[in-house]
Amino acid sequence: VLKDCDMPAGCLQLEITESLAAENPLIRGRLHELKALGVMLALDDFGTGYSSLSSLHQWPVDVIKIDRSFVSQVASSAHHRVLVEATVRVARSLGMRTVAEGVETAEQAAVLVALQCDKGQGYLYARPLGAQAATQWLAAQAPAPALQLGTAVLSRAEAGERLLQHLDPSSLAVALFDPEERLVYANPSFRQLHWRGLDGTPNWEDIMRTAHRRREGVSIETADINGWIAGVRKRYRQTPRRVFESNLCDGRWMRVCEETAPDGWQLSVSTDVTLLKVNEAELRQARDTALVASITDPLTGLPNRRHVFARLQALMAEAIELRLPLTVAVIDLDKFKLINDQHGHAMGDSVLLAFTQCVGGALRPRDVLGRIGGEEFLLVLMNTGRAGAERVLGEARAALRRQAIVPQVPALQLDFSAGVTVACAADTSDALWQRADRGLYAAKAAGRGCDTFVEAPDEAAALMDRLRGNPEHGGLLHPL
Ligand code: GH3
Ligand code: MG
Ligand code: MG
Repeated sequence: VLKDCDMPAGCLQLEITESLAAENPLIRGRLHELKALGVMLALDDFGTGYSSLSSLHQWPVDVIKIDRSFVSQVASSAHHRVLVEATVRVARSLGMRTVAEGVETAEQAAVLVALQCDKGQGYLYARPLGAQAATQWLAAQAPAPALQLGTAVLSRAEAGERLLQHLDPSSLAVALFDPEERLVYANPSFRQLHWRGLDGTPNWEDIMRTAHRRREGVSIETADINGWIAGVRKRYRQTPRRVFESNLCDGRWMRVCEETAPDGWQLSVSTDVTLLKVNEAELRQARDTALVASITDPLTGLPNRRHVFARLQALMAEAIELRLPLTVAVIDLDKFKLINDQHGHAMGDSVLLAFTQCVGGALRPRDVLGRIGGEEFLLVLMNTGRAGAERVLGEARAALRRQAIVPQVPALQLDFSAGVTVACAADTSDALWQRADRGLYAAKAAGRGCDTFVEAPDEAAALMDRLRGNPEHGGLLHPL
């Protein structure tokens, strides 16, 4: 028969019941002959007949099939479990494999796996099938005949059932849409989100329109739902996998993953990411705060030294490009040490803050005031020449004199000195600042409470200076 069918002997497995084998002494000899051909032999209904574990070694069989009467109680009876375990161990020690017959429940399967039984058969996997049905069943199992989950091996049907059981209480919102976009499965979380009051098998568009009309589920902020749907359609089902975030009318955020198979079936899985979103918003806020802190002087809230010099550089470039005048003033409070000495450091701080508020109020929107040292400030005046700068400083000084700088000490008078200069095309920000600083020294020397203007150098001369490497003009080249 093997030759007629062109079948390798190892592909044929013959089963013999142990009672039949035990009754007829000729049978054992036949079995040895068959074994010599390479045919696989299995001892059926093991445990019910006469053979015992101690005589198992006499049988030339490859497989021991453990009888259903043991298997059916393996999950409920310790006695049967021990018998099955013993059979498996003896069989293994003889190089035989074991098959459990009549497995009907997942619990039985799990115990048998734990006992290291090699295979199971029974209604848990499939009912007896005709040749054609068996072929179809095999084809259906073909891509993944079993799922290996930890140590337990589940059939696809059983794994499917398990998955559905888990999806019932799951916080994941899971839905399955058919190729016509009809909702054919939705777990409770998905229904709760999207399906309130919808019956039958609504399609994706029904769900979206209902959400929009009732302001429930997905938040759809539009007056033109048709246009909105047309817009989303450009992305919907256009790729095998789409992940996006979607906010709900109740304020929650979901991360949605839609996977569309080549046959048009679509799985949608959404996770609540509201908490992540909150954390994200907090992080963004913290980053913004840190960013502001990195460019701000904490006492006065003015741009700090680094930032005001960066702004100066940008404004200088702009002024050159637009051919606008730009003037800077370096301002230093007069006799400020005295205020600290007489009224304490905390009062000194209050005076610094009050000064910036007072002077800040006299500035125009585009003027930039930054704190570059203890009681030293840089004022950058865009589109302003010498006269304009002197007017701005005069107004600031007038504002300071109009009222008591701090109400706690009405008699406290505050004034400042300033050095002023206009930028020229050859200037670097450092050169400009240093020139204004020279003006400040001059103002202090002249008795304080005044401004000193320093002319910009002749542009050609300044440029040559700079090229030669004069550090005062931010030297570019060192002399040869
Ligand atoms: P001058 O008119 O020559 O500029 O005299 P001055 O006293 O203002 O200058 P000096 O450089 O001698 O002293 C500056 C003082 O400013 C000394 C320092 O303690 C004080 N100061 C610097 N930063 C702060 C600050 O953040 N808070 C307070 N309260 N005082 C500060
Ligand atoms: Mg000072
Ligand atoms: Mg100073």
